[in-house]
Amino acid sequence: MKHKYLTILSIAFALFACQKQVEEKKPYNILCIVADDHAFQAISAYGGELIHTPNIDRLAEEGWIFDNMFVTNSICGPSRATLLTGAYSHKNGFRNNGDAFDIHQPLFSREMKKQGYQTAWMGKWHLGVSPEDSFDEWVILPGQGHYFNPDFISREDTFRLDGYVTDLITDLAIDFLEDRDPGKPFLMVVGEKAPHRNWMPDLQDLGRFDSIDFPLPSNFYDDYEGRPAAADQDMSIAKTMRLREDLKVHLEYDKGGFGRLNSTQREAYEKYYNEKISAEYEGIAGDDKALTEWKLQRYLKDYLACISSVDRNVGRLLQYLEASGLLENTIVIYTSDQGFYLGEHGWFDKRFMYEESHKTPFIIRHPDTKHSNKRVREMFAFVDLAPTFLEWSGAGIPETMQGRSFAPLFSKDGSLPQWRNSVYYHYYEYPQPHRVAPHFGIRTDRYKLIRFYGPFEHWELFDLHEDPYEMSNVYGVSAYEKLTESLKKELVQLAELYEDEEALDIILKEK
Ligand code: CA
Repeated sequence: MKHKYLTILSIAFALFACQKQVEEKKPYNILCIVADDHAFQAISAYGGELIHTPNIDRLAEEGWIFDNMFVTNSICGPSRATLLTGAYSHKNGFRNNGDAFDIHQPLFSREMKKQGYQTAWMGKWHLGVSPEDSFDEWVILPGQGHYFNPDFISREDTFRLDGYVTDLITDLAIDFLEDRDPGKPFLMVVGEKAPHRNWMPDLQDLGRFDSIDFPLPSNFYDDYEGRPAAADQDMSIAKTMRLREDLKVHLEYDKGGFGRLNSTQREAYEKYYNEKISAEYEGIAGDDKALTEWKLQRYLKDYLACISSVDRNVGRLLQYLEASGLLENTIVIYTSDQGFYLGEHGWFDKRFMYEESHKTPFIIRHPDTKHSNKRVREMFAFVDLAPTFLEWSGAGIPETMQGRSFAPLFSKDGSLPQWRNSVYYHYYEYPQPHRVAPHFGIRTDRYKLIRFYGPFEHWELFDLHEDPYEMSNVYGVSAYEKLTESLKKELVQLAELYEDEEALDIILKEK
């Protein structure tokens, strides 16, 4: 009898152990939220004082916040192409918005499908081609998409949904989670449209920031001395930003997405923009300096109002994951396709290898490292995401991927083997739409060396400790000559490593 009892006990124990092992081996789900143009300065967890983002901050408080995540080509489509391929633009073939993406090249999502993941992309995609078989499920915006009552494209159909785009994308994401195959782990990318230009806030956020007078960035009146490409751009708040289409002064309904508003939405927009904001404008029109500073205020108020909706919807997703018991088995990431200028150097938009657009927010809540609120200082590049996702899923990493997995950071010992000391960057799109000259360069923890080409054959060097706002180009200054030589060597090494022949040609011709 005793023997029999022990046998039952040992079988029960073995079953329990087996069950535990199965649970431990179960791969984590991955939810990656990619905002469009969300500056790290506009996230309170990054120390930004412009806005309080409690839901994004929650991810940081319960997870890790990366201080040095850099994009490899700071514009929308190319950054998404790099996210998918783990490769630089010159390798994945998508250098400029408007290029056609080769969907048949190796993508992390397809590798994860082979690994047994159920995969989905919901929201902004903007790669000029259909996702085809690269994700199991997808519902995307055509091109840039609209803020209000947008069209969506699925595998079967094109259809219009009523409502505000950020809410609708969250609805689609939650629908996928509800209907998914619970027997499989999932990977979902949620591609936000917001806060992309022309910054159309949800009705509930209209005027949310009107009582705040935001301080001017210290380099708002940049004279661009020693930086000819920066002087030549067409992305300034003073000259480029449009009163009607961007800031909605005396707005008309024939372009810029305003024609999508239904009668209730149009009434609210009329009341706010065509009455209140247009009257404010009339009060200062004619005074150039006052107008430029007013444009900055209006831009920030609309931009941050769009982020209020993004943050609220991150909260909705977290609540869903929590209520459905998925949060403890899901890696949640919040990032953006690049950073953005919020008046620094007098600009909006992105593109330049200067900090505000080179660096992008990156926050992870990983079930193994929750409640740790750690700041990660190592340098990462957007090419690292695909290999990291693949290592997490247990899939192999295709040879075409140029980034490195940082999954070991989340292992028990938590260290990265021989990590990089610098990141490589290459931007191409010129002259349209913002006349930012093509350039490539290298950033170390302290220095940044940039080579502009095309309209300007020109180098820039910044000492980020001495000059964090990148106002003083010290290239050619004798005290920096030795350093410049060693940075150039390192730049050549990186261009060779990533096989960027175009950049190598430019440097080698100069010698
Ligand atoms: Ca973007």
